[in-house]
Amino acid sequence: MSYPKSFEGFAILDHKTFPETELVTFEPREFIDTDVDIKIECCGVCGSDVHAAKGGWGDMPKPCIVGHEIVGQVIKVGSAVKSVKMGDRVGVGAQVDSCGECDRCKDDNEQYCNQSIWTYTSMYENGYITKGGFSSYIRVRDHYVFKIPEALESKVVAPMFCGGITVFSPLIRNGCGPGKKIGISGIGGIGHMGILFAKALGAEVYAISRSESKKMDSLNLGADYYMASDKDNWNDEFRGKSDLIILCGSSFTGVNLDAYLSLLKVNGTLASISAPTVGEKLSVDTMVLSASSGSITSSRLGSRKEIIQMLDLAAQKNIKPWIENIPISTVGISEALRRADSGDVRYRFVLTDYHKTFDEMN
Ligand code: NAP
Ligand code: ZN
Ligand code: ZN
Repeated sequence: MSYPKSFEGFAILDHKTFPETELVTFEPREFIDTDVDIKIECCGVCGSDVHAAKGGWGDMPKPCIVGHEIVGQVIKVGSAVKSVKMGDRVGVGAQVDSCGECDRCKDDNEQYCNQSIWTYTSMYENGYITKGGFSSYIRVRDHYVFKIPEALESKVVAPMFCGGITVFSPLIRNGCGPGKKIGISGIGGIGHMGILFAKALGAEVYAISRSESKKMDSLNLGADYYMASDKDNWNDEFRGKSDLIILCGSSFTGVNLDAYLSLLKVNGTLASISAPTVGEKLSVDTMVLSASSGSITSSRLGSRKEIIQMLDLAAQKNIKPWIENIPISTVGISEALRRADSGDVRYRFVLTDYHKTFDEMN
């Protein structure tokens, strides 16, 4: 395979023109011996891509190339790389580097490293700004590159690299398993994978959504019960029944946290993975929290160890996120971002046809 001198990507150049992108050419950062170069095959569209593209997290450095549910083929490996080899099919999620030396990095908590480099819009010490998976190639440190089990199809596994691990990590860290009752709230890209993984881990699953509209889908995904939070007293029937609830919504608007906390068993936990628009906050009535000795916690992505565990479980249990494919182009990205933003997706877009689009340009 011929090796490219520069990479190409579809970039957001102005948040005001969301969801429009433009094709740009960029130089990757300097190659070092722990690096892996990947020719991208497909990439999921995460709720975070929508926030970042729209400017919901504030102004992003431009060109802003989002996408962090990446699957592709290894086309170059540095001399120190041991975990993957040329030609391997691999995935990359929302993190591409960390210091590798701090307590967090050494303790399988590298997603909490204070020097984390995210897949896009993060700055390396030398000033290089990272660019994500809406592009032809990506250069990533080996620790953040994952060989994909053969059983998992590229398009289907892509959403696991951010969305999947983001819910898998708090599930396993908070004891999801047989005999546990787990609530998953916000049945979007991450929430629907939450149902799939919580079931695969052997738990009983309660899906919670803002209306009745996702009831059949949630039950078909494997949920045992469904609650629509727009109904009066929606929480009454399930009061005090959950060991763990994970908030997977993209917004806290209209979220009555006290109603969620009423669902917890004694010593139950409510974990949020939401990363809403800047300024959105949750408020809690501590009397409701103390009524079940509840805990509120949160979670970010997952560690390398957990990503490998998730991929193994997905291969073993044949876990398949529900996806809609769109070929990558300015038109395709615009449709995916716009529809993802309005919740018009069942349940994750995956941009495809990378080789056709990018190879034809060269
Ligand atoms: P998504 O596919 O867009 O799904 C979001 C879901 O949130 C919707 O399907 C909807 O579910 C619910 N929701 C609640 N209020 C909403 C509102 N006002 N507008 C639209 N949807 C609303 O997003 P996602 O990819 O699952 O991501 C969810 C959140 O996790 C985002 O904020 C994202 O940035 C964040 N995230 C966090 C991490 C982390 O490490 N912590 C990693 C990745 C993403 P119902 O219709 O069922 O209510
Ligand atoms: Zn570190
Ligand atoms: Zn993401």
